[in-house]
Amino acid sequence: MTDFLKLNLKQLSDGLAAGQFSSTEITKAFLQQIRGRDISVHAFLDVFEGTALDDAHASDERRAAGKSLGALDGIPLAIKDNILIQDQRATAGSKILANYRAAYDATVISSLKKQGSVFLGKTNMDEFAMGSSTERSAYGPTKNPYDLARVPGGSSGGSAAAVAAEMAPAALGSDTGGSIRQPASFCGIVGFKPSYGAVSRSGLMAMASSLDQIGPMTKTVEDAAMLFDAIRGTDVLDQTTQEIPFSFEAKQSMAGIRIGVPKQAWGEGMTPGVRAQSEAALAVAERMGAKLVDIDLPYAAEALAVYYVLMPCEVSANLSRFDGMRYGVRDAGLPLIETYMQSREHGLGEEVRRRIMLGTYALSKGYYDAYYRQARRVQTLIRRAYRDAFKNVDLIATPTAPSIAFRLGEKLSDPLAMYLEDVYTVGVNVAGLPAISIPCGLDDGLPVGFQLIGAMGGDGAVLSNAHVLEQALA
Ligand code: GLN
Repeated sequence: MTDFLKLNLKQLSDGLAAGQFSSTEITKAFLQQIRGRDISVHAFLDVFEGTALDDAHASDERRAAGKSLGALDGIPLAIKDNILIQDQRATAGSKILANYRAAYDATVISSLKKQGSVFLGKTNMDEFAMGSSTERSAYGPTKNPYDLARVPGGSSGGSAAAVAAEMAPAALGSDTGGSIRQPASFCGIVGFKPSYGAVSRSGLMAMASSLDQIGPMTKTVEDAAMLFDAIRGTDVLDQTTQEIPFSFEAKQSMAGIRIGVPKQAWGEGMTPGVRAQSEAALAVAERMGAKLVDIDLPYAAEALAVYYVLMPCEVSANLSRFDGMRYGVRDAGLPLIETYMQSREHGLGEEVRRRIMLGTYALSKGYYDAYYRQARRVQTLIRRAYRDAFKNVDLIATPTAPSIAFRLGEKLSDPLAMYLEDVYTVGVNVAGLPAISIPCGLDDGLPVGFQLIGAMGGDGAVLSNAHVLEQALA
């Protein structure tokens, strides 16, 4: 009997199309795996036992009637808990939304519903996507399936662990500063952050709206391309969306591709194991025909500082809606201001409150020019630096994260150490670019991720070339 858990999206899709198995059979297999494995991994906040099987059954009936909705019809997926599915709970890992049910579908969800996808459940995350370890969830941490004493990365750690532990063939995550790519790297899977505006953010709970993007977390690059293609496109509900020409090519070589190797990213700061595996991946890219070009990426080192000013500013505005009145948990008091203050103090976790305060401070009169405006200026320089770099290269390569998965608790009391996790990933969000993390071997038995960054709108090039590298690294 086929072991459905081992199959990737493409194989599941092909098998369904060929009538080798049914959506009900595969959905049952994943639900059973969740029942067995998630007691120790804790990747899911909610599992849709009933509705998943109903949706799978409906998909099988459509297919039997010759009315399949396409490649994703009947494919089970896991969804990060900050993405709304109508009538289902959406907590974004926060206590303040413990009792909140989504009133509508995120655009990515309505797209997937139109294509017949089956939803297995909602995955755990750092509260409102703020974190790099999933330890900041109000519902307890997710564990890394490779080593349960270690973190899966974050903030989309639940989605990454679900795929790595074969509890879902693929998942959606969100990435504001690395939250798809870093957990993908820690869990040995593929994570793709699309160009800003390629995928609608309608129904994604906003963290930092100018940086947030939804993207696929999968077992293979081809699967990431397939899922990205299913969710991308313009949307009247998100005015920042734009049509990005996209085609994925399952090519065999990287001949003619110039890969920029920025000296700012390859200096100190990564562990010897990450360096060894990442340099080996560069050598493989060269063997596959790519030309490596040493490049200068000015202001790359400032990206982290810029991110940790811009992001909290947007966070402080976006999270003001959680006031105990409109959504979620209310901790009532008198006068009314007490209700706001108590609900926020008790409902929001330490890291979220830290960022709201930092952002409020940086936006306040007298400090706005020194912090927010200054960070925006440097953002322009970072964007320009990438634009200039892409005049001479097609892709830019860096490690995804400076280390392999760290131990639970190791960085929890040191916010700066946690923020440094994002050193290779945040620049991509600050510049709005597409980037992927693919597995590039193990260090100490734990996965290392390799990042390929593309020019704005170069999502197809990132995926097509990552596919070549993935095949060669396998
Ligand atoms: N780890 C980063 C942070 O804590 C990125 C989060 C994200 O991409 N959502 O802000």
